[in-house]
Amino acid sequence: MKWLISKCLLGDPCRYDGQSKPSDKVCQLARNISYTGVCPEVAGGLATPRIPSEYNGEVVSNADGTGVDFAYRLGAKYTVNLAGEGPACCILKEKSPSCGTEKRYDGTFTSTLVDGEGVAVQALYDAGICAVSEVVVDEVLTEISRGLTIIYRIDTILPALAARYTADLNQSLTDVSWDTTQVCVVGEGSDIPQDLPCILIDLCDAPSKVYTDSSMQVRSSHQAKKNYLLSCLLTEAMQADPVVSADDNESCSALFAHGSLECAPMPYSDIVELLVRTTRRLHDFLYIA
Ligand code: SF4
Repeated sequence: MKWLISKCLLGDPCRYDGQSKPSDKVCQLARNISYTGVCPEVAGGLATPRIPSEYNGEVVSNADGTGVDFAYRLGAKYTVNLAGEGPACCILKEKSPSCGTEKRYDGTFTSTLVDGEGVAVQALYDAGICAVSEVVVDEVLTEISRGLTIIYRIDTILPALAARYTADLNQSLTDVSWDTTQVCVVGEGSDIPQDLPCILIDLCDAPSKVYTDSSMQVRSSHQAKKNYLLSCLLTEAMQADPVVSADDNESCSALFAHGSLECAPMPYSDIVELLVRTTRRLHDFLYIA
């Protein structure tokens, strides 16, 4: 998973005024992932400090009326290239004429905010790459700290057996310091709890897939962006797991053969132990992230 982060959110003084805009939560996350810092405006050839600019949805101009569109488009192309072709999550500074993901100033230099993206984010969206803001990171990490629901889904499991897995999992995880977090095992088609942020880990396929409760469209709602970030965080955590990651297809396939734990060639206690271990990894990653 590739992560791009606005440099100014990480404390780099690359803003137009020669200052940075560090975000505690983004810096906290950055300490636990491998990422690339980017400043599209500097990458486009603009100096720091520089005259403030705004994007009116068509062109970018300086406050003195000078057109700077070319530099912004160049920086946008550079950012898209940096994100590359694989799955990526870009965390970019809201309201910027380059990096804004949902809001930007309207180009009149009257402090008027409008719905819309900055130039680099528009280019990312056009390339099918998602970008979320520091606001989304802050909200998601805060919500995780309050608790979430982790659901392991198994397609043909009987309700009584799913309930037994759930009870044993939670019993084995009582030492984990996330009081409001639930872990449960469900069969396909079962109701998903809605009261907490929800992570669905689908064990019907190998390697396991991670979903949140809605699919992501790159130009979608604030809530869908939060779900996307959560899904990226989980993907990151799962990639670090030797059992469920794509690096270990064989053990995962063996365990969840035929898409059903009931057919798995492993004793019940080993499966519980595996799910406990996986849950602990998710917990450790999410709570330090
Ligand atoms: S272009 Fe983006 S990274 Fe650079 S200073 Fe502006 S908001 Fe920050």
